[in-house]
Amino acid sequence: MTKTNLKECPLCGGGAKCESEYIPAVFKDGWYVKCNRCGLKTRMYHNEREAVIAWNMRYKMRQAGRVVAKQKAKAAEETAKNTKKEATAVATEV
Ligand SMILES: [Zn+2]
Repeated sequence: MTKTNLKECPLCGGGAKCESEYIPAVFKDGWYVKCNRCGLKTRMYHNEREAVIAWNMRYKMRQAGRVVAKQKAKAAEETAKNTKKEATAVATEV
């Protein structure tokens, strides 16, 4: 197995490895990346490189999703704060 630059598992953060498996239906080896901890797997790819790229892409998308979720939470928090401020201002005026 060649040394590959695999990201950790997007689900559990565990270590992953690239493996191949013989697929009788196509008389070829299929490559996939599998998490050593939770067993998350990519689908089969024609070569190791594609499987690694797919896995790392999944990791990146997951990371990007986390950033967006964080920004959304922050925005919601700001809105809540502003609404509270407005409510307080109205209460003071009255
Ligand atoms: Zn995992």
